[in-house]
Amino acid sequence: MSTHDIDAGAPLAQALRRPCPSCRQGMQPLRLAGHYEVPIDIDLCLPCHLVWFDHDESQRLSGAGLLRLLERIAASHAVAAHSLRTQLDCPSCARAMKLVHNLTLAGRSLQYNCPGGHGKAQTFALYLAEKGVLRPVLVRDVNRLAQSDGGGLECINCGADVPGSIGGQASNHAQCGYCSTPLHLVDVDALADLLLRMSPGPDRELAQRQQGRRVAGNCGQCGAALAPGLHMRCSHCQGTLATTHLTGALAALPERMRATRDRRRASDFAQMPSLDSRWRDLKDLGERWQQGPRQWRSGATRADRSREIDGLGDFVEALIDAIDLSF
Ligand SMILES: [Zn+2]
Ligand SMILES: [Zn+2]
Ligand SMILES: [Zn+2]
Ligand SMILES: [Zn+2]
Repeated sequence: MSTHDIDAGAPLAQALRRPCPSCRQGMQPLRLAGHYEVPIDIDLCLPCHLVWFDHDESQRLSGAGLLRLLERIAASHAVAAHSLRTQLDCPSCARAMKLVHNLTLAGRSLQYNCPGGHGKAQTFALYLAEKGVLRPVLVRDVNRLAQSDGGGLECINCGADVPGSIGGQASNHAQCGYCSTPLHLVDVDALADLLLRMSPGPDRELAQRQQGRRVAGNCGQCGAALAPGLHMRCSHCQGTLATTHLTGALAALPERMRATRDRRRASDFAQMPSLDSRWRDLKDLGERWQQGPRQWRSGATRADRSREIDGLGDFVEALIDAIDLSF
């Protein structure tokens, strides 16, 4: 374990905090685990749903650091969003930052860069897009969600409810009324795959070797056959595969990571799967977490959401321990 979270209520004087590039209020500092035990200090503005990285530090986050950051992003969904100013200023030198296109292995994203090289700012959604774990919401997703019980689409950036229809028609052009982020889903398998690539040991090698090979697999929960990346839920058991709800994606993660790992191992003759108990524990972990918050998903308020994220920290902690992501 090498996360060193700075407590949200740490006695760091507001004046010492770096100003948010948009609202200029002090940002919340957060120390996260990086590769090779080198911690990474980042800053978050929860009301603006922005993250600040010094220089190119976002590339150095370890899997454990990434999971911690996802936990904070999910927690920010209980905080009402400010809209961003059109111009963002660097927290270090106050110069106007430039919006630049950023082409990564995972695809295209956007970021605001300090012209003096101090670092970059991204909305939470842009950060997640850069990591390659988002996909746009399609009309069929909207229809499917409308039919499912816990219905309702949320903004992946700020957590606000987003109606999936425009003028009564299901639409994939819907965007958040608070922060203008277009509707996106977290693809839980893409996130599981990313974390496996970041994890130490043989799973990492295997995942890297097989990267981009999104073979059709089986639902990690019930075993039904699936076409990857196409569905919101397993049609058989309703297990979550993609969701606009980040906490839901984290809850589904243990099961999907296990399924992804087993699939990778099974398709690689050099690495026969060995059942190890930590991965069996993951299943229980996911199930325990999912029992609680599910019942009051539909029509959830911000207060419901803060209740939902109670315990998210412990869950992520257990997940990091179980899959040994700290290295
Ligand atoms: Zn702000
Ligand atoms: Zn600067
Ligand atoms: Zn939003
Ligand atoms: Zn299933």
